[in-house]
Order: sequence, then C-alpha cells, then structure tokens
Amino acid sequence: RFSTAAATEEPITPPVQVNYTQLLINGQFVDSASGRTFPTLDPRTGEVIAHVAEGDVEDINRAVVAARKAFDEGPWPKMTAYERSRILYKFADLIEKHNDELAALETWDNGKPYEQAALAEVPMLARLMRYYAGWADKIHGLIVPADGPHHVQVLHEPIGVAGQIIPWNFPLLMYAWKVGPALACGNTIVLKTAEQTPLSALYVSKLLHEAGLPDGVLNVISGFGPTAGAALASHMDVDKLAFTGSTNTGKIVLELAARSNLKPVTLELGGKSPFIVMDDADVDQAVELAHFALFFNQGQCCCAGSRTFVHEKVYDEFVEKAKARALKRVVGDPFKKGVEQGPQIDDEQFSKVLRYIKSGIDSGATLVAGGDRFGSKGYYIQPTIFSDVQDEMTIAQEEIFGPVQSILKFKDINEVIKRANASRYGLAAGVFTNNLDTANTLARALRVGSLWINCFDVFDAAIPFGGYKMSGQGREKGIDSLKNYLQVKAVITPLKNPAW
Ligand code: NAD
Repeated sequence: RFSTAAATEEPITPPVQVNYTQLLINGQFVDSASGRTFPTLDPRTGEVIAHVAEGDVEDINRAVVAARKAFDEGPWPKMTAYERSRILYKFADLIEKHNDELAALETWDNGKPYEQAALAEVPMLARLMRYYAGWADKIHGLIVPADGPHHVQVLHEPIGVAGQIIPWNFPLLMYAWKVGPALACGNTIVLKTAEQTPLSALYVSKLLHEAGLPDGVLNVISGFGPTAGAALASHMDVDKLAFTGSTNTGKIVLELAARSNLKPVTLELGGKSPFIVMDDADVDQAVELAHFALFFNQGQCCCAGSRTFVHEKVYDEFVEKAKARALKRVVGDPFKKGVEQGPQIDDEQFSKVLRYIKSGIDSGATLVAGGDRFGSKGYYIQPTIFSDVQDEMTIAQEEIFGPVQSILKFKDINEVIKRANASRYGLAAGVFTNNLDTANTLARALRVGSLWINCFDVFDAAIPFGGYKMSGQGREKGIDSLKNYLQVKAVITPLKNPAW
C-alpha cells in the first residue's frame, strides 16, 4: 500500500562514526563514577549503536561542582559579553561545518529522516546559536526614576548554575533552546540528555569547546530520568531548572525543585493541539498542511496538530483526500532519499502508539488508513488515520506522540472554539481559513501559546514558544527566553545633591 518497502530492506550504514560516549564534565570526557554504561539503540533495527556512560547521582554532583566553580571563579560570567558572543558565533560556524555528521548522528540515534535533520534541524541549531550570540552583548539593565533622592539601577545578572533536562524528539533543537539563552546570559550548565538520544549533544558540545568555551561551563550527562534527572532537579546547588518532556514528568521535576531549594522552573510539556479546517478552505491545501502538522517527525512533536477539526461542509472530501495523502506517505529507512517518515524512537513508544491505535478501534472511531506496524523490523508504524473521532475518546484526549491523525467533525465556529479549548493542554493550534474575521476570532479565542494561521510548525529563533495550561510554564526562544536565565537586582544609592 505504500510507495516504498525500504523498512523491510537492509538498513543503510550511517555515514558517521560515534566518537564520544563518555560524560562531559569540566571540559573532559570521563567515565561515570560507577563505571556503568547503557546501550543506545538504532530505531531502524533495535540494534545497539554504542554503549554510553551512565550518569547517576554522583556524576550529577561532580558536574554541578564543575559548573559552580566555572560560575563563581569564571571566566565565563566575568568575560566581556562580546567575548562570549564571539565564542557562540564561532560555535555556529563549526556547527555548519559539521552539519552532515551531526545530522547523520541525529538520524542514527533518533530515526528521523536524514534530509530533515540535515536541511532543517542542524541549520536551525546554527541559526539559534547566532541568534543568542547576537543577544549576548545586548542584555542590560535599567536606571529607573524612583520617588525620592535615589539613584536606582536595575541589574540583570546571570542566574547561576542552570540544570537542563531535554527529550529525545529533537535532541539538537532542544539543546539549542536550552543552552543558547543560558550561555548568552553568562550562566553555567549541567545538561541531562534523553537516554534514547545521548550522541549528538556530546558531539556538538565538543565543537562548542573547540570554539573556545571554558571548561566547566557546559557539562553534559547521559543517563536516566529517575536517577540522573531527579538528582539534577533536586540538587541544592542548581539555581534554575529547565525541562522539556511529558506533563507527568514535568510535575515530578517541579515538585523536586520545590522540595529542594525552590529553584525556578520552566516547563515545556505535552499537547493535544487542534488543527481547525474551516468551510472556506481550499481542501487540498488544508489536507497537506494538516498532514504535515500531525505526521512531521513521526508524529513525535509536542505541538503536533493531533485533533484535526474539519467543518462538516468539507468533511467527507477532507477525509477521502487525507486518506489518499497518508497512503502516499513514504515510510522507510530514514537515511534513504525521499523518505518522509522513519521509525518511532523506541520499543516503548512504538508499543504505546499501537495501544492507542487499538484504543481508537475499540472505541468505535473509523480506521481510514494504516492501523498497524510497518515492515517487520524496527519501530516503524503505518501512517494511520481515524475519522468519526469523538471528543471523549482517549485518542482525542491523550498525547499519542505518533503517526496517528484523529479527524473530528464540527458545525460552527463557536462550537469548535469550545471543543478545541476543552483540553487540559494549551500548547499550539492551527487554523486554516481564507476569512480574516474567522482567523482573528480564532486567534483570540484559542487558549494556546502558538497559533499558526494557514501555516504550521513555523519555528524561528525570535518567536517565543511555550504552553498555556498543562502544556507548560514560561517561554523559550525569542526575547522571553532570556528572562529565564537572568536574576534582577535593584541597587539603590542616595543622591547627596538631588538638585543635580
Ligand atoms: P519524559 O518526560 O519521561 O522524558 C523527558 C526527559 O525527562 C528525559 O531526559 C528523561 O530522562 C527525563 N526524566 C524522566 N523521568 C524523570 C524524573 N523522574 N526526574 C527527572 N527527569 C526525568 O518522556 P518519555 O518517557 O521519553 O516520553 C513519554 C511521553 O512524553 C511521550 O509519549 C510524549 O507524550 C511525551 N514527550 C513529550 C515531549 C515534548 O517535547 N513535550 C518530548 C518527549 C516526550
């Protein structure tokens, strides 16, 4: 049924080697204190790519000591902002130079199509680093006109040691969203990568050191959530925590932060984003955009348009065309040219997505396309579509995080606003219409952090991203992201001669 059988063929040998598998602490690659390692797997086959040092509590402690020393003694926070900026610019140049190796590592460890990694994710990493390099020497405080004879300065200072925990769906982009603003503001970092995708962050951090980053400023720990991740979230000497991942884990880390030293926390969590197709829409274009909104990155996007609401007037035509598009989707070895969809990240996610598909069938939704694994090896899933999905069904409420599109029918704009907002999530939404009033109404009514009108997944370094409700706290990218990494200090001095 699909235009490729690549998943069942022998996988292509990745055009890259794994050079770095140890922890990065104080500028050195070192083994974990326990000596333990864990395997990182190729999602195309489930085979081991490499054994990676497994960081645990003791390694987090070592990394925090290094980051604290690099913060307190410098030189990073004490360097001129221009020097920091130049290192970040140089880093961006090195990322560009190593674009293809980074993309290949990302594809190997994560399963995403190589073309997408090489043409989008890695270039965006470089772009983000240049964006933050540009900020480094433009962050400054204020002089405020207070009542009374006082000279009042408001200083914006780095917050200190930042703890950062990232997921596996966009390892390098999540790295950029976290590391970029923290470094631009003069902080030091302990970053814990996702256990499914430890490789690209180690490689790129080596480049950052080549660009001139002083030792101890960025420490990278591979390891698991309940051990290394929890140790970081609850560390008494970590001044700020930034987390991206599931809403459940977000609650855990927020609690760990509160129970330890009340470190401020930013959270980038899950979603169940509506994609609304109005009756004036060009159906072909709407189908293509809704398809992209859901299936991009194997459906593993926190902001995936995973509730496709379609106006009843165009519903039947939309479902037919969405089915045709899904059946044409090219699934296969992500290293192969033209492949749109690779495998899911791991066995756990693969099984979870298949369970959701079963739940859709059991709850009475109509299976329009897909519905099973793709091929017989690795974690590939057929692009799947359900129509006649009802709001109360599990597949319309929970984050599936896979290539499963749920299509729901609606009659009018007020109804769809209510239903779209009836979610505990509020990360993003897509709207497809030619009517300006409809677009404006939906833009104001939908309770989400990102709203894409006649487009989707437009990510730019300068555009803030984050969630309403249980999709998160705080914003990343853009000017708002700097606030996460700055302390505000008011300095007040009396004026002896207020007349002057
Ligand atoms: P997760 O939230 O458990 O993992 C994200 C990160 O948090 C990883 O680095 C992990 O090691 C760490 N972590 C896990 N438990 C922790 C703990 N107790 N303390 C500190 N850190 C901890 O996500 P997952 O298990 O990889 O995926 C489960 C679901 O989460 C997915 O199906 C999807 O719905 C969602 N998810 C969302 C995003 C996103 O971008 N918002 C990314 C990945 C997964």
